[in-house]
Amino acid sequence: MKTAKRKKLKIRKKNFTIFILTIFSFLFLVTKCINIITTHTTKETKKVPTTKEKQKGKNKNDKLETIKKELEYYNEEYQERYEKYLEENPKLSLEQVVKNVNMHLDQMPYEDIEEAKYQNTEKILVNKHYYLTKDYVPKNLENISTRYALSGMKLVKNAKEAFEKMAKDAEKQDLTIVAMSSYRSYTYQVNLYNRYTKEDGKEKADTYSGRAGHSEHQTGLAVDVYNKETNYTNFEKTDEYKWMQKHAQDYGFILRFPKNKEKETGYQFESWHYRYVGIEIAKYIKNNNISFEEYYATKIKDW
Ligand SMILES: [Zn+2]
Repeated sequence: MKTAKRKKLKIRKKNFTIFILTIFSFLFLVTKCINIITTHTTKETKKVPTTKEKQKGKNKNDKLETIKKELEYYNEEYQERYEKYLEENPKLSLEQVVKNVNMHLDQMPYEDIEEAKYQNTEKILVNKHYYLTKDYVPKNLENISTRYALSGMKLVKNAKEAFEKMAKDAEKQDLTIVAMSSYRSYTYQVNLYNRYTKEDGKEKADTYSGRAGHSEHQTGLAVDVYNKETNYTNFEKTDEYKWMQKHAQDYGFILRFPKNKEKETGYQFESWHYRYVGIEIAKYIKNNNISFEEYYATKIKDW
């Protein structure tokens, strides 16, 4: 009996040891597993997005590199501005990013301004980013015939001739197109803008009037029209406006501040303000439904 008891005891001891060992190894394994899982997940949450981000950034730069070769109007001097603008506007296409930066939409109006290029040509762009100096007076200013303008209205020769031709052709359709404001000097604009800011405040005045040096009227290529019957602010409702919508480009004129282009042009829609750019450019702008800013940013390189 004694030996049998001992044997039983031995077996119990053995089983107990096995039991303890299994428990320990189980616990060991569980801790190990937990450790592995936690380190893995922390590694994952820390590491993976960084790699993704890096990859993303790399892709963007790669894409900018590719688009650089594809886009004629990619300006290497703007590289950093493209990258910054892309970061701030990740939903935009790369093409749009380049276009917008070329149009200076990454800058505030009247900030980082530059003197207008292509002076005394039809390509000149004057807006809230490009200015003319106090003493800029366009060459070849001529009076518009009072048949088609209020007295004393001047435009640059080519623009004046094109305007008279356009108004004459409209007249044949019993339409009256009359220039009521055309070339305006720097000083004239100073007084005009000051009057507007007194009436409406600076913020509002900026939506419809250029600050001195920034008005396109100083180029001698811009003209405001009306039909002698309706106030110019309602020109949109006239038959003359409809006719100009169809034909202005054939004479080299564009509606300079169209609807839905306020961001690009910096101005609200003005049905009465036209700009002479020459027939070829005017037709291109009309057919492609773009603003002069977009044309300038993609077709006219000033760098
Ligand atoms: Zn105007």
